[in-house]
Amino acid sequence: MTSRIEQRCIDKGMKMTGQRRVIARVLSEAQDHPDVEEVYRRATLIDPRISIATVYRTVRLFEENDILERHDFRDGRARYEEVSDDHHDHLIDLETGRVIEFHNTEIERLQEEIARGLGYELKGHRLELYGLALKTDTGNDAS
Ligand SMILES: [Zn+2]
Repeated sequence: MTSRIEQRCIDKGMKMTGQRRVIARVLSEAQDHPDVEEVYRRATLIDPRISIATVYRTVRLFEENDILERHDFRDGRARYEEVSDDHHDHLIDLETGRVIEFHNTEIERLQEEIARGLGYELKGHRLELYGLALKTDTGNDAS
C-alpha cells in the first residue's frame, strides 16, 4: 500500500527507498506533530535498521520538497506535520505539551486586514497560542 506522503514524493519524482517509504508511512499516519525522535521511534517499530540520521535526512528532504511543514513550539524540538491545503493554527498546552489545532475565520480576516493596512498582501502567517488548561470548578469543595 502506498501512503499519502509516499505518493506525493512519487509525484514529485523523488526516488523512494524502502526506508524512505517507512518514514513516509509513519508521517502519513501521524495524527499529532511528532519530532524527529518520535518519528524515529515509530519507524524503527516497522524497520529496526533505520537510523536516526536517515530519519533526519529524510524529514529534511520532505521539508525541502514542501511535503512536510516544520513547527517550533518553543520546547527546543522541531515538530513536523504534512503540508495541507486547509490552514490551521495551534494551541500548545504548556503542562502536557499537547497540541490542539484550530481555525478561526475572524483571526484570518483580521490578519489580512492588518497586512493590507500596512500595504501588504498577506501570503502566510504562523500563529501559536500557549496556555494552561483552565481548572474546572466542580463545586465539590470538601474543606
Ligand atoms: Zn497542525
